[in-house]
Amino acid sequence: MANLLWLQGGACSGNTMSFLNAEEPSACDLVTDFGINVLWHPSLGMELGDNLQQMLRDCISGKIKLDIFVFEGSVVQAPDGTGEWNRFAGRAMKDWVQELSDVSDFVVALGDCATWGGIPATAPNPSESVGLQFLKRDHGGFLGKGFKSKAGLPVINIPGCPAHPDWVTQILVGVATGHAGDVALDEFQRPKTFFQSFTQTGCTRNMHFAYKVSATEFGQRKGCLFYDLGCRGPMTHSPCNRILWNRQSSKTRAGMPCMGCTEPEFPFFDLAPGTVFKTQTVMGVPKDLPEGVDKKGYIKLTGAAKTAAPQWAEEDMFVV
Ligand code: SF4
Ligand code: SF4
Repeated sequence: MANLLWLQGGACSGNTMSFLNAEEPSACDLVTDFGINVLWHPSLGMELGDNLQQMLRDCISGKIKLDIFVFEGSVVQAPDGTGEWNRFAGRAMKDWVQELSDVSDFVVALGDCATWGGIPATAPNPSESVGLQFLKRDHGGFLGKGFKSKAGLPVINIPGCPAHPDWVTQILVGVATGHAGDVALDEFQRPKTFFQSFTQTGCTRNMHFAYKVSATEFGQRKGCLFYDLGCRGPMTHSPCNRILWNRQSSKTRAGMPCMGCTEPEFPFFDLAPGTVFKTQTVMGVPKDLPEGVDKKGYIKLTGAAKTAAPQWAEEDMFVV
């Protein structure tokens, strides 16, 4: 039996909503099949008021063993580092976060706000939001660069806006069943099993990408969304086209560009007008190129691809 506590800071509850839709395994399977005991969760917890405060204190004192602490949302530090803008159970949420992280075997940051600060940390960041162990690309965050949970691991980051429900439940199962040691993390502390490949891996528009045939409108049933609509699929680490959403689709399959929500810089260009859903270019070459491709190589590749593009690439080839 592994005790799990879930709290929410500067959050929209999107990751909770996503988690409740998990299927492989489901949130119920965690309890019935994998021995996870949900001590408290913002949408599922029963305790209120003094009872909740007492339970949190019991976790901190060690009276209740805390195996997994999941945090959703940014750590709000405003005003002036006090955290008073986000009070919870009688005190600043950030103080609960610090003390609960210190006593927990494993700490999981769920969603972009908890991992990198996300949208709340976008400039000018009035809530002084940070992620648990990162602020955007900067290692440190609220808990500090050197933080390790009691089991000796840094914060396990599961980014996404929201994170796919099965990324969450599969990692929780791994941790709860004693397989945390098998969870290899990348340089941003994301589980490699999900975040080593790209959104582009498995995208149904890969052939259009290769022939440089562009989609020019959302939902268009042909063309790649990279050249005009700002798709970040080739430089975003995510399995969105391997582990489909609702088991059947993804943004790019539906004709919506990947916005790169699993990367630390999300939202890119701080959401400045004209930067979303539009490919940023310099002299006709995209500013951000597919990972590992340099400017020269890209120009050569796309020049050849365009002249080789077959007629079918210009046709609507999707039948459903
Ligand atoms: S750029 Fe986007 S739409 Fe094009 S193939 Fe890659 S992931 Fe798919
Ligand atoms: S397709 Fe891109 S923006 Fe959409 S969920 Fe996946 S990584 Fe995030």
